[in-house]
Amino acid sequence: TSIPEQSTRTVKTHCPYCALQCAMTLTVTERDGAATDYEIEGASFPTNRGRLCRKGNTAHELLKRTGDRIMAPLVQERAADGARTGAFRETTWDHALNVIADRVRNIQEAHGRDAVGVFGSGGLTNEKAYALGKFARVGLGTSHIDYNGRFCMSSASKASTLVFGLDRGMPFPLTDLDDACTILLLGSNVADTMPPFVQHLDGAREKGGLIVVDPRRSTTAELTADGGGLHIAPAPGGDLVLLLALANVIIEEGFAAQSYLDSRVEGYAEFRRSVSHWWPERAQATTGVGADQIRAVARKLGHAAHAARHGGDPVYILTGRGVEQHRDGTDTACAAISLALVLGLPGARTDGRSRGGYGTLTGQGNGQGGREMGQKSDQLPGNRRITDPEDRAHMAQVWGVAETEIPGPGTPATQLLHTMGTVDEWGEPKGVSALFVHGSNIAVSAPDTGRVIRNLRSLELLVVADFFMSETASEADVVLPVLQWAEEDGTMTNLEGRVLRRRKAVDPPSGRSHASPATDVGPRSELWIWHELARRLGSPAEFPVDPRAVFAEIREATSGAAADYSGLDWDLIDAGHAPYWPVPSSTLSGEESLTGEPVVGTSRMFEERFAHANGKARLTALRPRRQPVPVAGQLTFTTGRVMEHYQSGAQTRRVDALRQVHPEAVVQIHPATAAEHGLDEGGYAVVENAQGSMVAKVEFAAGIRSDTIFAPFHFPGQGTANLLTRGLTDPQSFMPEFKNTPASIRAATAE
Ligand code: SF4
Repeated sequence: TSIPEQSTRTVKTHCPYCALQCAMTLTVTERDGAATDYEIEGASFPTNRGRLCRKGNTAHELLKRTGDRIMAPLVQERAADGARTGAFRETTWDHALNVIADRVRNIQEAHGRDAVGVFGSGGLTNEKAYALGKFARVGLGTSHIDYNGRFCMSSASKASTLVFGLDRGMPFPLTDLDDACTILLLGSNVADTMPPFVQHLDGAREKGGLIVVDPRRSTTAELTADGGGLHIAPAPGGDLVLLLALANVIIEEGFAAQSYLDSRVEGYAEFRRSVSHWWPERAQATTGVGADQIRAVARKLGHAAHAARHGGDPVYILTGRGVEQHRDGTDTACAAISLALVLGLPGARTDGRSRGGYGTLTGQGNGQGGREMGQKSDQLPGNRRITDPEDRAHMAQVWGVAETEIPGPGTPATQLLHTMGTVDEWGEPKGVSALFVHGSNIAVSAPDTGRVIRNLRSLELLVVADFFMSETASEADVVLPVLQWAEEDGTMTNLEGRVLRRRKAVDPPSGRSHASPATDVGPRSELWIWHELARRLGSPAEFPVDPRAVFAEIREATSGAAADYSGLDWDLIDAGHAPYWPVPSSTLSGEESLTGEPVVGTSRMFEERFAHANGKARLTALRPRRQPVPVAGQLTFTTGRVMEHYQSGAQTRRVDALRQVHPEAVVQIHPATAAEHGLDEGGYAVVENAQGSMVAKVEFAAGIRSDTIFAPFHFPGQGTANLLTRGLTDPQSFMPEFKNTPASIRAATAE
């Protein structure tokens, strides 16, 4: 017998999870050409500087899992009454794709082309996000495509577009934060969600300038201890008023950067008038933050920004989902940007030194690229507007179709999911009758998941593409097995707007076995799936399967657009460069960065002008909605993440080392509130409201407000936090309100 040959290969790539996109090396051990083991190590890159969090460190476990990996297309049986039975039958790709194409044709013939909807993801590579938008619009011919980024980035994205004229989450390199003397961080628990980020807060922390705004004393808020800075705990929903009150003090006490406002900003007078109503004593009642504390923070920011305007260390204002996932999330993000403008920070330099600015911390791995590739219901690639005749004509030319073949704007995510499969009083569909879901687990992550699951069960056709049997996939008529992170090539755009290479390191499983010897099985790329479906549906457009060819098309599609990728070069990115968009061809010259790494594209934005036609940033009046009067006995329920899990947990709940630390749903509550409700630490509680209820293990947290309870949203079944969240959305961004839900809590009894 011959001894199997062993070899190792090392592949440079980026983490499969969050938007920090930490660089890593994945070492693959092979015997006779088959992968037998994997090792992950952090690699040098400015965002992570060699560090990884627990999720990144264990990401190779996903590649090892075979037991619950979907190995062949699956079709779910239906009972005589039409209900899905839960019994899945393996089939070939040819059969599965024919079933889908036939059913799509029948549904569209009966109800029109818009009867089919598509739900995408901020986890897809740029190439897949782009191809999915194209597949929806000119493969299926539907206007109804939206994606899970609507649930995470839409408010900050809308606010940046309104105020700056362009949406790049961080319009400066992350490493700029290292020099800061003061950072106001609102609604983000980076110490748990993206731990390697924390090193960029160290500079401000050492200078006592880290100000964390969070109703919980989160791991990030703890960083302000021992002279690191300040923690402010407003009531959920109070952030907008808090920001307006900070602006009020800054303006009233003469800290506004008047010459910057005169030359670079319009609308200051309206904004100033609107904040004049929010003096600290008035804001105290809404925010739950003392007037003295509001004044102290405003003065700290004012002095720091004044120093930055005279060559001192920079000042940054950063927001996360905590302040954005509200019904006034767009106004709140606008208020944070406005505050930075009043302080004279964004895009400004003194003696060649940046004064600071505003940034939002994108969450999902490709949350930035995913939102500019055309998955949004109102947007075409490059952040082009779907209602703009010039943008439509450009895309029609790139896609090789008539402009009239590109549908108009569709329905934003929450409305799409809350109306799908439902009928009006005459039995006519109120929403789509068929849904494609790619890279998303909406049965856990969407607001009001009880309603979402009921609607999924009423659809005539549900197609889910995934690599594990997620809670959403288990509802599907057809499940399509797809490739996971290290099994295919592509590009991602991180939270700074840098375009990175995600590399293939291993071959996907073949899907063949003794029991199932068919060759037409095994996971495939979505690019191939959309190519095949578009062909079967008679699409007039071409759908390339090679990611490099799709990337070339993205360059053409985004040429001249706000998010311009046209000057990017696959080989350049492949060689390890990570250019910042926009990269129009003319800027592809490169400069040497401090780390010696060549920088291509536009690392710092708005230095000369903002992106509105007149080059000015646009301030407007901001008027907070009246807050509902709290009902006696009710608490405010808010959701978020823990270090060990990512999004709906569909991947991280399958990694033993992560699941062991956080195996189940928990609810954090102040010990005094727990005592009032008869709850013991480690016992179980029912959290409930008119929407639904969840059961979770009680965790005492002395640092949470006594009127607030918190649950992570990573868990399925009765631990699903989103059973309680509602379908209320921000009127400008359509972002659901995940962070401010009335609920009550009681001890769970053994039933
Ligand atoms: Fe991955 Fe984000 Fe953790 Fe970095 S911080 S290792 S990108 S999950």
